[in-house]
Amino acid sequence: MTRTFIIIGGGIGGLSAAIRLAAQGHQVTIIEQNEAVGGKMSEISAGGFRWDTGPSVITMRPVFDELFQCAGKELRDYLTLLPVDPLTRYFWDDGAQLDASRMPHIMLQRLREFAGDEDAQGYMRYLQYAKRIHDITGSVFIYNDPPTVWRVARTPLKDIPAVDPLRTMSEAIESFVISPKLRQMLERFATYVGASPFSAPATLNVIAHVELSGGVWYPQGGTYSIARALEKLARELGIKIITGCHADEITVESHKVTGVRAGGMFFPADAVIANVDVATVYERLLPQSAFNPRRLGRLADAELSSSGFVLLLGVEGTHDQLTHHNILFSADYPREFADIFERGIPPDDPTIYIAITSKTDTSHAPEGCENWFVMVNAPAANDRFDWGLQGDAYRSHILEMLARRGLDIRSKIKVEKQLTPLDFEARTGARHGAIYGLSSNNRLNALRRPHNRAPDIRGLYFAGGTTHPGGGVPMVILSGKVAAKLALEGLEDG
Ligand SMILES: Cc1cc2nc3c(=O)[nH]c(=O)nc-3n(C[C@H](O)[C@H](O)[C@H](O)COP(=O)(O)OP(=O)(O)OC[C@H]3O[C@@H](n4cnc5c(N)ncnc54)[C@H](O)[C@@H]3O)c2cc1C
Repeated sequence: MTRTFIIIGGGIGGLSAAIRLAAQGHQVTIIEQNEAVGGKMSEISAGGFRWDTGPSVITMRPVFDELFQCAGKELRDYLTLLPVDPLTRYFWDDGAQLDASRMPHIMLQRLREFAGDEDAQGYMRYLQYAKRIHDITGSVFIYNDPPTVWRVARTPLKDIPAVDPLRTMSEAIESFVISPKLRQMLERFATYVGASPFSAPATLNVIAHVELSGGVWYPQGGTYSIARALEKLARELGIKIITGCHADEITVESHKVTGVRAGGMFFPADAVIANVDVATVYERLLPQSAFNPRRLGRLADAELSSSGFVLLLGVEGTHDQLTHHNILFSADYPREFADIFERGIPPDDPTIYIAITSKTDTSHAPEGCENWFVMVNAPAANDRFDWGLQGDAYRSHILEMLARRGLDIRSKIKVEKQLTPLDFEARTGARHGAIYGLSSNNRLNALRRPHNRAPDIRGLYFAGGTTHPGGGVPMVILSGKVAAKLALEGLEDG
């Protein structure tokens, strides 16, 4: 029987859910407030330069392949994913440099020269450890329905130490490698979910496995090509995509969803999937009489992931010392995360990430120029730092830090745009601009993450970074898969 689904939000999680439902013959409409789909995955062009404004590191390729396959299609007919090598070029302030490779024999050789044989062997053991976490936890925490205490409790006793839930990421890393630089390189993966390696559970070392063993992919044309490809597939499947239309209300009768009011119209629905921050759904889209206010209180008070400060720079000249993905590490990593999560301010000495897609796609910058995406981690917006008043000074500070690291581009900037946590909030509805939804700085947060099915309103489901399994492009694709599956099961159950 054909059912009618409304998806609020055309982010990657919303598109993933919509494609899966339409592929099974259902009628699906996406309502997106912006003029284009993609949400945090977005692009900007100016002065002959082109930048992605959101994600740049794409991992977990099988998740993308599976999304196209569920609609009977092949990814290669929609999108070209190129392997990136080196994965990332790392720089330290004493001049040390390391290119990460996913090829074990290459990495082993590089690490022997960089940190000595003991650490090279320790790194290999670390990768095996991270793979084992993936093998054990993948089916419970990543690839299926949200974890339940019951399913977690069924983890065989012998496997629990391997999941490493009691140490922090950094404590586990210290047990494998000695070099502070190599430790910092591995600790960095906590930032992929907007967390601190000094608080997040060691289980999250699984992220290093995904990138260092699985590789990084560059979608030809820029990351936004992913959104474009999913939109093309969605339209082919008959999904109606309404852009420039803000959803104002999810209508509810007797604790059951009836539809969505948006742009002055009413869209009736058998079920609604909100690709919107879960707390925002309760705060702004649901009638307050439809749920217990304590639920909103709990959602609104949950600790958020980090946000970021981004400079999009059109830079004159080419910089051979840089590659596609570059990381310039701060000198004091614990202090950087204390600034973000304890003091609530952008770090004084930040680790600086620079992505330059024109290294791979020369059309992204005029000849002899480069398109720099410069990002530093920053706290979700709060009252301790005023981006309106202090943002420009912080921007100058970042450029000064780059100059100190031998990258003085201050006189070479031809075009510039800035994105602060406030911009991420305004453009995508991300609460306080938190990029990855809820914080992972706590070992229980995987169990506390809002479920993809609303517990109190029948027919309401969630996809996206604030629900299971979490933030990041492949993860929100999986959240769309879970939301679509639960929505269909819910209708079968009546
Ligand atoms: C600067 C930055 C860098 C990042 N880097 C990476 C990276 O390198 N790798 C990676 O994997 N991930 C990265 N991420 C995270 C990744 O982009 C997100 O986790 C993912 O794209 C979020 O998808 P989502 O499904 O949660 O939807 P979102 O992107 O949050 O989209 C939600 C959509 O809903 C729409 N919407 C909200 N409310 C309404 C309403 N009331 N009516 C209609 N529409 C509405 C919004 O306009 C938006 O389009 C980065 C994010 C940012 C911002």
